Amino acid sequence: MKICDIRATTVSMPLEAPLRHSNGAHWGRFVRTIVEVETDDGYVGLGEMGGGGESAELGIRALKPYVLGHDPRDLEALPLKLANPTASLYNNRMQMVAAIEFACLDIVGQHWSCPVYQILGGKLRDRIPFASYLFYRYPNAAGEGEVRTVEQLVEHASALKTAHGFQTHKLKGGVFPPRYELESYRALVEAFPNDQFRWDPNAAWSVADSLEMAHAIAGLPNDYLEDPTWGLNGMRQVREKTPLLLATNTVIVNREHLVANLRDPAVDVILLDTTFWGGIRACLKAATICEAFQVPIGVHSSGELGIQLATMLHLGAVLPNLTFAADAHYHHLQDDVLAGGKLQYEAGSMAVPDGPGLGVTLDRDRLKYYAECYRTLGGYPYDRDPGRPAWYPLLPNLNWANPTNEAVPVIPSLPAWTAEPEEVES
Ligand code: MG
Repeated sequence: MKICDIRATTVSMPLEAPLRHSNGAHWGRFVRTIVEVETDDGYVGLGEMGGGGESAELGIRALKPYVLGHDPRDLEALPLKLANPTASLYNNRMQMVAAIEFACLDIVGQHWSCPVYQILGGKLRDRIPFASYLFYRYPNAAGEGEVRTVEQLVEHASALKTAHGFQTHKLKGGVFPPRYELESYRALVEAFPNDQFRWDPNAAWSVADSLEMAHAIAGLPNDYLEDPTWGLNGMRQVREKTPLLLATNTVIVNREHLVANLRDPAVDVILLDTTFWGGIRACLKAATICEAFQVPIGVHSSGELGIQLATMLHLGAVLPNLTFAADAHYHHLQDDVLAGGKLQYEAGSMAVPDGPGLGVTLDRDRLKYYAECYRTLGGYPYDRDPGRPAWYPLLPNLNWANPTNEAVPVIPSLPAWTAEPEEVES
């Protein structure tokens, strides 16, 4: 079994409404690259990575000399071939390595007629609980879906809880002044007294603001405070003066960072992202180190469609030390590129796919449609706020969006795919 081709297709997937974060926004859509790896005996494996466009597709095609002829079952060799730690100083291939690893695992699972979780050691749970992942949002092109006020946020969380059954809520902050967001966070706790909470301002706060917010929420049912401030030393300063657990998906994204943190702790909870870490197996290896040191872990979301979501589900299934609900942006999507559309939540959790490989199937009609959406709308600058075009954040940020009086941008979007009506023969 040898890899004989790799393909990359950029897609734009519409969101319910533009999602705001500390650096800017997701402008009403996610741009993702769907990667397909084909073998000489007819298997096609699926991968996915963030971003897209000509450069991303070219980047994947440029890896052909490295992977053509490679046996997808040789999973240990793959990252060494593609992203040797020292050679990688000259390139930045981690997301591509991850996408190709997902596809190879998918192929191996299809070939061995078993789900990816069995390749990884076998599942310990059938379902993965998820957090609601709440964002402040701009209204969509129809003028709907805004989340700016405390009341709008609680209403939005309530609707998501009713629809999907979430029992953990994550507030993506770092948009408005910390004390304004604190009001929102407290209102969520009051609205859902039996649930768990986490807050992630994407490293936008100063150490002083982080400490003020950490002390303000101490005593609430917090899972953890995620990346309140930037850098290991900033996090360490906060950690030393608060009883809250601090989590990160930003400053510990490889084993070298992890070991540095074990020797001189700055973070308590390591959030493992199958993309940022370079694959499912890299996350599993990190989780094993954390298990030995009794360092808590979580499954992180970097803005996935269903293929990457499947990698998160298979990872979550095999981690003995997964004690927190996972994160996903997935419920903000209007559709997916998978056959049958979006995977479904039930009681705040999602079933781990049991089919061979990743257990998900690409819908070619949807892929074609969302690739056309990308060609029509193009990319968007993730690190720019469409409501404040000239603004960029300082680190720590000092110039927050105005929660009571701000420009509302008009952001173009395209509708979700709908099946062509079947022709009826008379
Ligand atoms: Mg985060």
